[in-house]
Amino acid sequence: MNEGFETLAIHAGQEADPHTGAVVPPIYAVSTYKQDGVGGLRAGYEYSRSANPTRTALEEALAAVEGGARGLAFASGLAAEDTLLRALCKPGDHVLIPDDAYGGTYRLFAKVLERWGLSFDPVPVGDLDAVRAAVRPETRAIWVETPTNPLLGIADIAGLAQIAHEAGALLLVDNTFASPYLQQPLALGADVVVHSTTKYVGGHSDVVGGALVSGSAELGDRLAYHQNAMGAVSGPFDAWLTLRGLKTLGVRMDRHCDNAERVVDLLLSHEKVSQVLYPGLPEHPGHEVAAKQMRRFGGMVSFRVAGGEEAAVEICNRTRLFTLGESLGGVESLIEHPGRMTHASAAGSPLEVPADLVRLSVGIETIDDLLADLSHALG
Ligand SMILES: *Cc1c(COP(=O)(O)O)cnc(C)c1O
Repeated sequence: MNEGFETLAIHAGQEADPHTGAVVPPIYAVSTYKQDGVGGLRAGYEYSRSANPTRTALEEALAAVEGGARGLAFASGLAAEDTLLRALCKPGDHVLIPDDAYGGTYRLFAKVLERWGLSFDPVPVGDLDAVRAAVRPETRAIWVETPTNPLLGIADIAGLAQIAHEAGALLLVDNTFASPYLQQPLALGADVVVHSTTKYVGGHSDVVGGALVSGSAELGDRLAYHQNAMGAVSGPFDAWLTLRGLKTLGVRMDRHCDNAERVVDLLLSHEKVSQVLYPGLPEHPGHEVAAKQMRRFGGMVSFRVAGGEEAAVEICNRTRLFTLGESLGGVESLIEHPGRMTHASAAGSPLEVPADLVRLSVGIETIDDLLADLSHALG
């Protein structure tokens, strides 16, 4: 398919319903399917853990927008991650993860998969030499997020793919922060893309979900086998909401980026802000790589506050439009203090974040209102 991103997001996997002509895939709230004689499946569906038509529509659309061979939808981002790692690794294998990985990903490795026999090492994935030096004979995969959460570090996906493949390992990319609109890791050599569709893909803070998209059909079959065998699937209503969000991902992301750029300008000129972390800034250490592999620089902005931890917490408590809350990627703007909120569990670990850090998920409200709210909170 050579169609553009928005066309695929709106049409891939979403032909009009053959029975009614409904232009949107219905919510197939059903667990089992009538067979025409033993083994006579009408459309390939037998039981909804294995496959459900609403989920299939989402899975085909996700594969199309990531440029992948196969898409699979899960109950959450972490369910997708767990399925991916157990499908592709075995006890005794080793995985490299970012030293500022999403906290839940770190917890999955440290508290769940390590007990299962999978070892891992956090590495600065933005530093290709450090990654190359950390690869071991038993390294099965390199896991990367770019941009990272909450420090917005950038990793070179094509460079990491080369290191992984030379070592006989796989490159797995958590593309949640960029979304497939801004970045397509499979085209850069990644083997599997992971999403928390809870964030930008769903985009409306009304559903929790996850996805895997494989570059090859072979890997896709393996992941689909484990999706069914492990069972952490997306339900039909969740799949429908996520698909509804996906249709507007392109227009939403452009507005998220427009608004984030204006917010960055405001923060740069404010005396209470000691540093702005945004890959769109020329002085950001990952700027060149980001410019090469991303369409634009995203809707996430972090900054450090001159007055330290208390001043950072105060700003989070003073906004009105920027809602104080965890998560990200919805149409509404959110603010949070990673040290005490999303990344509190990383305290004392290699993933600890600076105490004076504030993270913004810049939404798509009227920009002047967002700027006024931030100016007031900064004082
Ligand atoms: C939220 C998030 C996850 C986990 O996804 P859930 O849907 O909350 O399970 C994984 N990676 C990143 C980067 C995230 O932001």
